[in-house]
Amino acid sequence: MSGFLHCHDCGWYQDDFWSKEHYHPFRESIVNDWKKTLFSDRIKMPTHLMKKLLVPYEIDKDEKNSCYVDGKDLVASSLIEAANSIKAMKIKTYKDFEKIKHKWKCPNCGSKSWDID
Ligand SMILES: [Zn+2]
Repeated sequence: MSGFLHCHDCGWYQDDFWSKEHYHPFRESIVNDWKKTLFSDRIKMPTHLMKKLLVPYEIDKDEKNSCYVDGKDLVASSLIEAANSIKAMKIKTYKDFEKIKHKWKCPNCGSKSWDID
């Protein structure tokens, strides 16, 4: 099951609950994409996205909304993003959450006004 745990009072949230078999940060499709991207030298990307991710880029001379990035920079940025998401994960699985949900409070504001979508 997916499970997006979040707080209605302060907006705190974490990644969907993980499971070893299905959803987790190292899903085969993601790792395969990282491997492929790592060896690409010039990838065309939207400039605003690369500004946001702080990836070094070279603006496309004919199309200013697009830019070129090195695959290794894109993968490094994705790994940092994944690491931050992993660090922010308070409860890894729904099974873990079931055991404590009756007493669980938001780690940011202490509210019990949480929800799972
Ligand atoms: Zn909260």
